[in-house]
Amino acid sequence: MPLFGRRKTTEPEAPAPEAVPLPGAPVAGANGMRSVDDHRDYLLSMVAELPPFRQQLLDVIDLSICEDVVAGLNLPGFDNSAMDGYAVLAADVERASAGEPVVLPVVGEIAAGQAAPHPLAPGTAMKIMTGAPVPEGADAIVPYENTDRGDVDVTIVAASEYGQHIRRVGEDVAAGSVIYRAGDQLGPRDISLLAAMGIDAVMVRPRPRVVVISTGSELAEPGYLRESEHQIYDSNSFLLAAACRAAGAQVYRVGRVGDDPDAVKEVITDQLIRADLILTTGGVSQGDYDVIKQVMPELGRTDFAAVAMQPGKPQGFGLIGEDEVPIIMMPGNPVSAFVSFEVFVRPVLRKMMGSTPYVRTELHCRAAHAMPSIVGKRQFARGHVSVGEDGHRQVSLVGGHGSHLLGDLARANALVVLPEDTDLVGVGDEVSVWMLADHH
Ligand code: AMP
Ligand code: MG
Repeated sequence: MPLFGRRKTTEPEAPAPEAVPLPGAPVAGANGMRSVDDHRDYLLSMVAELPPFRQQLLDVIDLSICEDVVAGLNLPGFDNSAMDGYAVLAADVERASAGEPVVLPVVGEIAAGQAAPHPLAPGTAMKIMTGAPVPEGADAIVPYENTDRGDVDVTIVAASEYGQHIRRVGEDVAAGSVIYRAGDQLGPRDISLLAAMGIDAVMVRPRPRVVVISTGSELAEPGYLRESEHQIYDSNSFLLAAACRAAGAQVYRVGRVGDDPDAVKEVITDQLIRADLILTTGGVSQGDYDVIKQVMPELGRTDFAAVAMQPGKPQGFGLIGEDEVPIIMMPGNPVSAFVSFEVFVRPVLRKMMGSTPYVRTELHCRAAHAMPSIVGKRQFARGHVSVGEDGHRQVSLVGGHGSHLLGDLARANALVVLPEDTDLVGVGDEVSVWMLADHH
């Protein structure tokens, strides 16, 4: 049953509209294919940043702030003690040693959060706890470790210097300085800094709501028995849902739909209402049952292209439904789907979230062995980056070229980016990689 039906199934079937192509699609090169960069830039030009609103700190992890933030407070906010001990005048204890200790009367005590009862007079000491304000007149803290911890008098057995163990006002962050610029992505440490400033909510672009659908009559749902051994479990919708979530999106994994035109149209139409972006896999190549390519032009304006890359050559994009919801239609082979995500979907999500840069940073590595490459296409091979004995990063390929090799994909920790004009990378040559995860 449709969850979010827009049209009643009893309504008379409208005649299939003419397929309307999307304007402005880049033209293919001499080889009949569109370049990777042209296609990505085109998709980026077709999606908009989501409108920002103010959200609570714990809801903004991984999102990008879209305002500049000026520190309203100094950090530290006042001179305070870095140790539990005694506030003193450094001059009073500059000659203290185990052989010739200095004894001072203890004239008060300051806990964190309290104010000093009065200024410190020369020749006296005040007990002070970590984080408590340094009393006026004091200019050094003697830690407990260098004393007998006395309450009435304290015996100090080591010298202290001017300023020792005092955290100075504003030494960390000065009030009035810019601590965040629009576009900065917020992690746990940023959230803590904002909290330290007394801020509880910031302007961010929301998490894009991404609907993930996989197509293919051969697909079975994990957790259920397959109807036959020729069915395969749907891994793409999990792959993409997880990758979107890791990229900061809010994901609705719809799962699989068979290669039936009406079923595909119904499922996608039902999802439009809750989607900022729809992702599909399968059905965009030249097969007899490539249903996505067949039916999507009926739901909106679409663009299907051959992109000069391997894997991931057949790519579809569209703006569908009344609200012109963007849809990215990827090939069904799991590695193709993953590479399509990295090359196209991730930048699109980042644009929607206002996170810069949109595209992954390339690192340079040495090739641990020769790597053949197809001229005319950008190849995204699965690689494993490690640090060699000479301390330099090196990369070796994981598995073969086959875009069905999901086990190899899971073992890789990088994508090796082999440019269009390369036919062979020699041992020790520099190659570019996109690091995928830091837990390998
Ligand atoms: P297609 O792009 O629909 O022609 O599919 C290409 C290949 O990818 C076929 O071998 C499919 O069985 C496989 N495939 C398609 N969708 C999925 C999926 N959701 N999970 C795993 N494999 C899939
Ligand atoms: Mg298929």
